[in-house]
Amino acid sequence: MKLANYIGGSLVDPAGGSYFDDIDPATGKVCAQVPDSDQRDVAHAVEAAGAAFPGWSRTPAAERSQLLLRLAGLIEQHLDELATLESIDTGKPLAVARSVDIPRAVDNFRFFATAILHTSGVTHQTETSNARAINITLRGPRGVAGLISPWNLPLYLFSWKVAPALATGNTAVGKPSELAPMTAHRLAELSIEAGLPPGVLNIVHGRGAKAGAAIVSHPDVPTISFTGGTETGAQIARTAGPMFKRLALECGGKNPTIVFADADFDEALATSVRAAFSNQGEICLCGSRVLVERPIYDRFVETFVERTRALTVGDPMQDGTDLGALISAEHRAKVESYIELARAEGGTIACGGRRPAPDTLGDRCRDGVFLEPTVVTGLDARCRTNMEEIFGPLVTIMPFDDTREAVELANITRYGLSASVWTNDLDRAHHVAGRLQCGTVWVNCWLLRDLRVPFGGMKSSGLGREGGDEALRFFTEPKNVCIRMKDP
Ligand code: NAD
Repeated sequence: MKLANYIGGSLVDPAGGSYFDDIDPATGKVCAQVPDSDQRDVAHAVEAAGAAFPGWSRTPAAERSQLLLRLAGLIEQHLDELATLESIDTGKPLAVARSVDIPRAVDNFRFFATAILHTSGVTHQTETSNARAINITLRGPRGVAGLISPWNLPLYLFSWKVAPALATGNTAVGKPSELAPMTAHRLAELSIEAGLPPGVLNIVHGRGAKAGAAIVSHPDVPTISFTGGTETGAQIARTAGPMFKRLALECGGKNPTIVFADADFDEALATSVRAAFSNQGEICLCGSRVLVERPIYDRFVETFVERTRALTVGDPMQDGTDLGALISAEHRAKVESYIELARAEGGTIACGGRRPAPDTLGDRCRDGVFLEPTVVTGLDARCRTNMEEIFGPLVTIMPFDDTREAVELANITRYGLSASVWTNDLDRAHHVAGRLQCGTVWVNCWLLRDLRVPFGGMKSSGLGREGGDEALRFFTEPKNVCIRMKDP
């Protein structure tokens, strides 16, 4: 598959004419050629988006809505094909791509396509001793939005930005991750089929340091929405801050799962295993530190390890696979370096810690980038393994003695994305939720999403919120019009 940039309504080659390989991490084989775009391609895309902005921003919301709903319908029609591409590109189980990634991309478009039909403005009646006025707060699109997304949930997260940006009347230049760009390429083709006007959505493929950085530094892109690593987010902020760009940064996490002794043991256990290893642990919201109240700690660890051992690592295309391949050999090396670090820091590898034997993977996946789900116990809460984001199938389990300690350990890292709290004591749930420093607290659940709620992180997990009204506000500029009223 040779991918192309999508600029001004057409699929085009990169200006420099060069491409790099996209690798299927489950097989080690090249699955696509990706345009190695540079600032010329970005400049071309921004120009196309700028030219399309006046028309698109004045297109009635109902028409924009119809076009985006048509696009959602096309994604749904191609669900199986897109899920297969997503699985090939990332190594994730096909079943996950089919049930999570692609349906969510459909939902993202439907949600924002219809949300814009139901928004209402704000007015204030103003009365002073010598004047009366009515204040009307208008909200309009901001122009060209730069949308940069990561590889772990490729179309899911890319469309989470594209849909609100376009729905609110902005035009966009998007850059999907260079490690998983195939579904974004298909999104371009489907956008053409849906009849999206040329230039409304532009997609430039390529590496972050070149194509991504060119979007961030372009003076005609006033809005940047980024999802990815914390260090990349900081780098983007250094460029975009002095340019007074509006910035949303959705970055890394080191999320705690907190299990109190009174919790429903079986549910807490099953969900914490799922939270640790879903999508190979490559979800920003994965619970990578499990904190367990001491009276149930030993039983919890024993059962957690048993359940983890029962997970199937293997061919992502096969039914019954729980963990597929990691995204790349470099990423597996990073995760493995943390397994070594955990040992060096005095941890016990309770299970996993190795690559599965090639003969368990079958011929097709013999050269793939697989790793066993790994559970580590016995570490100090402040060690590097427990403080740094690993973003792979490695989870630590630690005991705590009381609510105060649970909250302290949960808040100890520089991250603040999400937490999952397990207790049947409503007062305690409220108490803990109120004290956790993170953007989302799930009580007796994990990753139960409602697209209307604010989504994002505190501390080094990011800046700003996505989702629902937050996204509609982020992509629009408020302007207050004050009209003085005189008596006739
Ligand atoms: P990354 O930061 O390496 O890359 C993310 C995107 O940014 C890619 O498209 C990349 O090409 C681009 N990029 C890289 N350098 C850039 C630069 N200098 N300027 C502009 N763009 C640049 O992240 P990744 O490895 O793709 O994704 C994994 C990270 O994403 C993890 O830290 C994970 O926690 C985070 N993540 C966060 C959320 C969230 O909602 N908070 C969701 C998913 C993933």
